[in-house]
Amino acid sequence: MPGAPRHHLHSTSAPVIPVPPIPDAVTQALSAMGVELDSGDADRLRGYLEALRAANERFNLTAITDPAEMWVRHVQDSLTLVPFLASAEAKRVIDVGTGGGLPGLPLAIVMPDIRMTLLEATGKKAAFLQETIDALGVTNARVVHERAEVAGQDHHQHRAHYDAVVARAVARLNTLAELTVPFAREGGAVLLIKGSQAAEEVAEAKQALYMLHAQVVDLHKTDTGTIIVLEKPRATPRSYPRAPGEPKRKPLK
Ligand code: SAM
Repeated sequence: MPGAPRHHLHSTSAPVIPVPPIPDAVTQALSAMGVELDSGDADRLRGYLEALRAANERFNLTAITDPAEMWVRHVQDSLTLVPFLASAEAKRVIDVGTGGGLPGLPLAIVMPDIRMTLLEATGKKAAFLQETIDALGVTNARVVHERAEVAGQDHHQHRAHYDAVVARAVARLNTLAELTVPFAREGGAVLLIKGSQAAEEVAEAKQALYMLHAQVVDLHKTDTGTIIVLEKPRATPRSYPRAPGEPKRKPLK
């Protein structure tokens, strides 16, 4: 009706923006990777995508807001790491630069036996993550609001503390390796979701990986990207990671 008053929501919590249930194609793609979801998992993943969409109205968390695309590029892509975490028998896992919770939050939802740390430098994003894991009842995830360069030098709580380190879309490998490898215990795994440039990034990061005592053991193509698998046979030299900003400003070479 022309001239009808417009109603504005003044609630402090964001309005729910509905997301349809998981598409069959995504269920099938997950099943082909050996990932079977129960209905509780699917509901919580959907609730997570709804929270992400709603929060994205307030501040930028993701450029992908079409629901079908969110299921593939956020949920399916994150869960490509499940078989790697399962075969590594990882219990303690950290997601470095998790942003709105990717890939760590979907992984925590479908793998209740892992303990997931979501590490994020931006306060607003960390606050969104804490609200969301509380609302969804994801008790096996915790949020750490800190820079990777600082947490990676915290010998008591984080450094060499994790069986596996995961990350997606944080930096090129020559920078990202310095931000992630220090968190892995000796013999631990680093699983990085990358795009089609993965092989070029590996070539560019050769010297950085050598200096960090890490090596590439697999480049695994999935339907949505490429997983770079690093192994850390020996401790990371104490000087890495360098001071905040240095890994990006002056990548190791
Ligand atoms: N991993 C998420 C994804 O795939 O959607 C977020 C990607 S977003 C492009 C990169 C995120 O990494 C941002 O939220 C940023 O704040 C965070 N980040 C970048 N450098 C970081 C650092 N040194 N320590 C912690 N977080 C960092």
